[in-house]
Amino acid sequence: MSDARQREAGATAAAVVGGTSADGARGAFLRAEGVSRTYRLGRVEVPVLRRADLSVRRGEFAAIMGKSGSGKSTLLHVLGALDEPQEGQVLVDGEPVYAPVGRRSYRARALDVLSVHERRRNRLRRNTFGFVFQFYHLLPELTVFENVLVTEMVRTGVLRWPTARGEARRRVAAELERVGLSHRLSHRPNELSGGERQRVAIARALVHRPSVLLADEPTGNLDATSGAAIMAIFQALHAAGQTIVMVTHDATVAACADRVLHLDDGRLAAK
Ligand code: ADP
Ligand code: MG
Repeated sequence: MSDARQREAGATAAAVVGGTSADGARGAFLRAEGVSRTYRLGRVEVPVLRRADLSVRRGEFAAIMGKSGSGKSTLLHVLGALDEPQEGQVLVDGEPVYAPVGRRSYRARALDVLSVHERRRNRLRRNTFGFVFQFYHLLPELTVFENVLVTEMVRTGVLRWPTARGEARRRVAAELERVGLSHRLSHRPNELSGGERQRVAIARALVHRPSVLLADEPTGNLDATSGAAIMAIFQALHAAGQTIVMVTHDATVAACADRVLHLDDGRLAAK
């Protein structure tokens, strides 16, 4: 598993309370500037992102379309502080996510845990972003309620958990009610449909009130009806002010957003 995909699983298990307080309402809240990401397969270099630019304002619902293999997941990982680009920068509320280009490692090293940018990325993954992925990443041995609660437990930390637990349980219950799963709280993931599993993942992504919801093909594994239900949830969230960046290869799904960009040959363009 690549570093980013490992962190993808970690990001869904990690978590904290409250979003960012700084106000980036003027201008872009989430910005990619000239990001390039190349994978190395043995001696072959596979350029995936080629100086891609993106600006997302607070409250916007942006969809990024592209064919399979066009780099959508890679872009979402770079935006979500899960994978470091070789060139360019990502800014959240005007603050850089990655170290200056010359000081990047491309691979986590022990000392990176202490670096200022790595600490900021950890905070961003836990507080600022909520992640939804195509394959849910639920923990099979936990119930629906526990799957969402455990992220709050990790986010809060063991010392604060005894006093935070009551409020966290209320928030988890409210979030699962919002996605229509109040009658499934004690079920385990293998007792749920795909659409229901994705709704658990959405509740988990939102329970800490992230500034930005990042979704990677959230309907990619679902039939049309379940997919439409997920998009109805996204549109309700957007109407309530949630900033959303979603990647998809499906034009019908992308049409739910208020702006559609295309990822083509490693760059983003409106069409
Ligand atoms: P998409 O999400 O649009 O299907 P990806 O971002 O997953 O595209 O992948 C883009 C390209 O990069 C694909 O050709 C894929 O095979 C390649 N790729 C993705 N991850 C890795 C990796 N860890 N190592 C090498 N190549 C990768
Ligand atoms: Mg993908």
